Amino acid sequence: MKILVIEDEVKLGQFLGEGLAEAGHVCDHFMDGAGGLEAARGAEYELIILDLMLPDMNGFEILTNLRESRHPTPVLVLSALGDTDKVIQALDLGAIDYMRKPFDFDEMLARIRTIQRRGGNQSGYQLSVGDLQLNLLSREVSRSGVRINLSNREFALLEFLLTHSNQVVTKAQILDKIWDINFDPGSNIVEVHMYQLRKKIDKDTLEPLIQTVIGRGYLLKGEVIKS
Ligand code: CA
Repeated sequence: MKILVIEDEVKLGQFLGEGLAEAGHVCDHFMDGAGGLEAARGAEYELIILDLMLPDMNGFEILTNLRESRHPTPVLVLSALGDTDKVIQALDLGAIDYMRKPFDFDEMLARIRTIQRRGGNQSGYQLSVGDLQLNLLSREVSRSGVRINLSNREFALLEFLLTHSNQVVTKAQILDKIWDINFDPGSNIVEVHMYQLRKKIDKDTLEPLIQTVIGRGYLLKGEVIKS
């Protein structure tokens, strides 16, 4: 999932960014309300994690603002404000969930999975192309019925290719989406992960799914079916 974190505590923001990335999400972090709100409006996020006490504006204002503009992204409030009336106020303003600080990170991941499930109509979480299947919720991948274990980055990479099938995706796009890096770090980080992914996905198969388009990027061909 692409997640926007609006949180003014530096360490907590970093912790969330790293933990969510480790769990396979892509994360942007803003430390102020105005910047966060602008980011929410400017990009397509699947979830916003919102602190309530921010230096410039409070989270309730942000929730109100998002609601008034009919912003579709679900908001999970993460706050030290534990009073029930604050929780009720946030939920009434459109927050989909509320977690009190201090919080358990594994519980947050479970709640994010629930939001992911609620987000759709329970379908569209299984992506298939040919004999390859990827389940966005259970995070299972198989080819010809044989389970394949992927790292979080490899999974994100495959998901990205599947959602951009029949298009050439460039290294810059991959760095931006999977590593959240918008410059070329001059490393072969993409090539290394792509090599590992192909070794697992296209192992021993006559028809490799992922192709290299020399000088341009990578291509996954085929009709991807969502079910
Ligand atoms: Ca705060």
